[in-house]
Amino acid sequence: MRSAYLLSGLAQCAWCDGSLVGLKRGKGHGKNCYLCVRHNHRGPEICANDIRINEGILNDAVLEAVRHVIEPRMLQDAVAQALETLRARRTLLPDQRRAIERDLAVCDGRIQHLVEAVATGKGGEAVFVELQKEQAHRAALTAQLDQADQLARVSSLDLTRIERQLTDRAENLLRLLGQHIPQTRQVLRKLMPDQLVQGKRVPGRIVCTPFDDARGQGYTFLARGSYSRLLGSGIAINDGGGGQGS
Ligand SMILES: [Zn+2]
Repeated sequence: MRSAYLLSGLAQCAWCDGSLVGLKRGKGHGKNCYLCVRHNHRGPEICANDIRINEGILNDAVLEAVRHVIEPRMLQDAVAQALETLRARRTLLPDQRRAIERDLAVCDGRIQHLVEAVATGKGGEAVFVELQKEQAHRAALTAQLDQADQLARVSSLDLTRIERQLTDRAENLLRLLGQHIPQTRQVLRKLMPDQLVQGKRVPGRIVCTPFDDARGQGYTFLARGSYSRLLGSGIAINDGGGGQGS
């Protein structure tokens, strides 16, 4: 079932581990809100948390927190990762290049030697064949050197491209957050990796602790997040995947 509420089933009551779910209010009965599903369905004996919170207020607070962590951290991490990859590739390049250049020098020495042999008429046909082989080898080594140089150039371009893509992706994501409930639910899911609870993998949730004190009534919330899945190619913020209500 697709939830019409951003946080239904993603938010969890800290007192009973049940879901917070959206409750639609009819005209004249206040605004839509979230409340603990166990309290609502099974009563205060099962869960004493009777705090209802305005839907828009909790949505905005969660999205604001997400925006706060996504933008700077995600970009920093992504770019750091890209740099790391580039560095790893580049470290190997000078060694490769030196090895090829050594082979080339040896090859040139042989070619010079063979050319002299051909010029003095010593060795006949066999020398000529050998010279052709060496020249082919030389061409292959030169091509390898070109490839190494290309790789060095491609890596810099790659980094710029990756950085730009990630920046675009992060900006898109931030722009779309909160605009469409199914997409935003999907982003929130991806941000919250599965957790192990008593040996079982369960989807990560936003744990909401009710309070009713001098501040008024409301919730504080806590979620464990990871943006590794956002950076992966698996991100699909435009395909409208649905959420599950509870
Ligand atoms: Zn509860």
